Amino acid sequence: MEKKKIVVATGNQNKLREFSQLFTDYEVVSQKQMGFDEDVEETGATFAENALIKARAAAKALNLPALADDSGLCVDSLGGAPGVYSARYCGWHADDQSNRNLLLKNLQGKSDRRAYFQSAVALVYPDGREVIAEGKTYGYILEEERGEGGFGYDCIFFSDDLKKSFGEATAEEKNAVSHRYRALQALLGKLERI
Ligand code: IMP
Repeated sequence: MEKKKIVVATGNQNKLREFSQLFTDYEVVSQKQMGFDEDVEETGATFAENALIKARAAAKALNLPALADDSGLCVDSLGGAPGVYSARYCGWHADDQSNRNLLLKNLQGKSDRRAYFQSAVALVYPDGREVIAEGKTYGYILEEERGEGGFGYDCIFFSDDLKKSFGEATAEEKNAVSHRYRALQALLGKLERI
């Protein structure tokens, strides 16, 4: 039997692969593959709001169930910053390195370096039904970069689960404990109950 299509509202190939590995009952396609390539403005105050904004836009434009995630790093002693601004912590033209540098600077002299990554995943159906789930992974911010792997804040995030930085972990190790993986697992659990 032909699998049902589910659209992922992302241009990020890593996310697409992660979603495909978990949603095996579906044919997972990117919104771009389906002809929708609009950059929707992430104006939400929370990860969940931003995930919903992206998923709603794709579901509406393509008339298919759409999945989207939004994620970031939250540091306790900075009141949860950079949070939803993680990708542009250092300004609109920020890149991963400048964002990490600013975070290390803002944490200079602080003894509490606890932090967590958070991800919200939203599934929106064309008939308006919406399912949302969240996942977190805990650790602390290192004094300096460690490891070459990953992206974003990975090389300054020491994972409580892995006992090493995400930058030192293999993709498989990180995926097994990541905020995105946990959010997707939670979402799948909710779908089974619908
Ligand atoms: P987005 O969910 O793709 O919008 O991610 C927002 C930002 O959060 C990214 O640009 C990264 O800076 C950060 N981020 C989210 N997930 C991760 C992760 O798994 N590792 C490192 N940084 C992450």
